[in-house]
Amino acid sequence: MTNITLALGDITEQRVDAIVNAANSSLLGGGGVDGAIHRRGGPDILDECRDLRASRYGKGLPAGRAVATTAGRLPARWVIHTVGPVFSTTEDRSATLASCYSESLRIADELGARTVALPAVSTGVYRWPLDSAARIALTAVRDMGTSVTEARFVLFDQRAYDAFETAL
Ligand code: ADP
Repeated sequence: MTNITLALGDITEQRVDAIVNAANSSLLGGGGVDGAIHRRGGPDILDECRDLRASRYGKGLPAGRAVATTAGRLPARWVIHTVGPVFSTTEDRSATLASCYSESLRIADELGARTVALPAVSTGVYRWPLDSAARIALTAVRDMGTSVTEARFVLFDQRAYDAFETAL
C-alpha cells in the first residue's frame, strides 16, 4: 500500500525518484509548477518534451494522461508530465482529474519509481477548487494498486496544505 504524505514546499526540491508536473497539453512549458520545473531542471527536459510532441503526441497530450521524461538538473530522476482538466461549473471533469493521478502512478510503476512527489494538479491556472481537488487526488492515489511506496503531495502554500490535510 502507498504511504500518502503531505509536505509544504517546492516540488522541484524534492529528493524522490519522480516528480509529477502539472503540464499543459502542448508539453512545451507554461507557468506555475510547469515553469518552475523547466527553470530548475534546465533545457534537457524541454528537449525531451519536444521530441515527445513530435513523435507520439502531435496533437498534444490529452487531459488525464501522463508521460515521463528524465529530470535534467533536478534531484529527482524522472519528471512525469500530466495534463489536468480546466475546472468547469457545467461539466463534471472529476474522472479526468483522478486519471491524472492514476496514470502518473502507472507510469511511475513502469519506470520502477518508488517515491513520487505530486502537486495539486489543476488548482492553479486551471482554477479547480482546492477542497474538491484534494479529495479527488487523495482518493485516486489511495485506490490505486501501485508499487510506489511513498506518494508525497507537495503543496505550495498553507491554504493548499490545509485543504489536503483536512481531506486526508
Ligand atoms: P494547473 O494549470 O494544473 O492549474 P498550476 O501550475 O497553475 O497548474 O498550479 C497547480 C498547483 O501547483 C497550484 O496549487 C500551485 O500553487 C502549485 N505550484 C506552483 N508552483 C509550485 C511548485 N514549485 N511546487 C509545488 N507546487 C507548485
